[in-house]
This record gives sequence, C-alpha cells and structure tokens, in this order.
Amino acid sequence: MGTLGIVIAIDGPAAAGKGTVATRLAQELSLAKLDTGLLYRAVGFAVLQAGGDPDDAGHAYEAAKNLDPELLKNPALRLDDAAQAASKVAVIAEVRAQLLDFQRDFANNPPPLDDGTPAQGAILDGRDIGTTVCPDASAKLFITASGEVRAERRYKELLERGEKAIYARVLEDIKERDARDQGRSASPLAAPKDALVLDTSEMSADEVYAEALKFIRSRVSA
Ligand code: C5P
Repeated sequence: MGTLGIVIAIDGPAAAGKGTVATRLAQELSLAKLDTGLLYRAVGFAVLQAGGDPDDAGHAYEAAKNLDPELLKNPALRLDDAAQAASKVAVIAEVRAQLLDFQRDFANNPPPLDDGTPAQGAILDGRDIGTTVCPDASAKLFITASGEVRAERRYKELLERGEKAIYARVLEDIKERDARDQGRSASPLAAPKDALVLDTSEMSADEVYAEALKFIRSRVSA
C-alpha cells in the first residue's frame, strides 16, 4: 500500500469506546487519527439539511460526492439524528465506494500531527476498516460491549455534554444501528479474522488501552 508508516484499524459497534482508545493510541504512537464515522455522519447530515431522504441512494450519493471537509467539524454531527442518518446512508454501496479513497489516502499519506511533526502512521476507527478499507493494516482491533453497557456509556456522555437524553431511547438507537450495520450487504460490521477482539463490558478505559497497546506492540515495533 505504498506506506512506510504503521496503520492501525479499530472497528466495532456504536459507543463501544473505539474513539477513546483510538485517541490515546494516536497520542502515544504519534499517529494521525481518522474517525470514519464522521464521514458517514456528514453525508447523512448533509442529506437531512438539503431536505432529502437518507434512505434514498440518489440523494445520499450526491451528498457523498459533494462532501465538504469543513462539515466534519460541525458539532451537530455528534447528535443522534446525524447518527441515524449516517447508518442509513452507510447501507448504500455507492456511498461507501465514494468514501473509500479518502479513507485509504488518509491511511497511506497521513497528515502531520497537530504540533506539525510528521505522523508515524495512521489510526482509523469505524466499522469496516480492518475488513475493507485497510485489509493490510499493521494491527487490527475489534472493540465491543453489550448493547446495555454501550447505551449506558453513551447516555452518560450525552448528559455530561449537557444534552437531554432518555436511556431507553439511547438503547433503542444503538440496537437499531447495530441491526443496520450488521445486516447490510455492503461491508457489514464484523470482526476481521486477524483482529484482537476486546469485549469491554467489564473493562475500564485504562484496561482497554493497556491491552490494545500491548497487542499493537506485539505486531509492530512501535
Ligand atoms: O461510529 P459512528 O457512530 O460515528 O458511525 C455512525 C454510523 O456510520 C454507523 O452507525 C455506521 O452505520 C456508519 N459507519 C460505517 N462504516 C464506518 C464508520 C461508520 O458504516 N467505517
């Protein structure tokens, strides 16, 4: 894949803690980080903003083709409407294909770190990084947890951010997205064969980070 840097793939269902561990690993290993969920959220959000239907392949593809990278910074992408729309547009194969080049390019040519120094490689988190986007990744992790534990974590996170949230609705949202992510035919959510699978239901964030780092170090001389 034309890169000398390391590539770490982190996959797993919604709210399993992928982002938290990816951020810490990126810092420790001087890697550029890409939250690929944001790309799908931006596409879903753009469709909603244009008054379109995220289930409509034509609307979704147009939004993916014209994706404005500035939109990735919009805090509204974090909200549940964007998440639901994201998981709808993510079912559409043309949308996934459209976002593939951007993700691979990031992995192969990671941008410099925030302090301007060159990155040692890239870390991408999502649903299909180890299976489809970067099948040759240096190390693959699959981070999961029970639906209830993930809903509880997301619920607390929303409250901490000052958002209004109802636990039952958060759980329902997670279950709906799980079903859509696992059931779609284009790059469904699944653990890559060569991934370290971590069920974090009963693990602290520190334990997850320590296990992940140990595994990566066993795979690459990082
Ligand atoms: O990870 P996040 O919750 O931000 O992702 C939002 C949605 O985008 C997911 O529910 C999933 O449907 C989709 N997604 C995807 N493939 C990725 C990343 C996200 O299909 N690599």
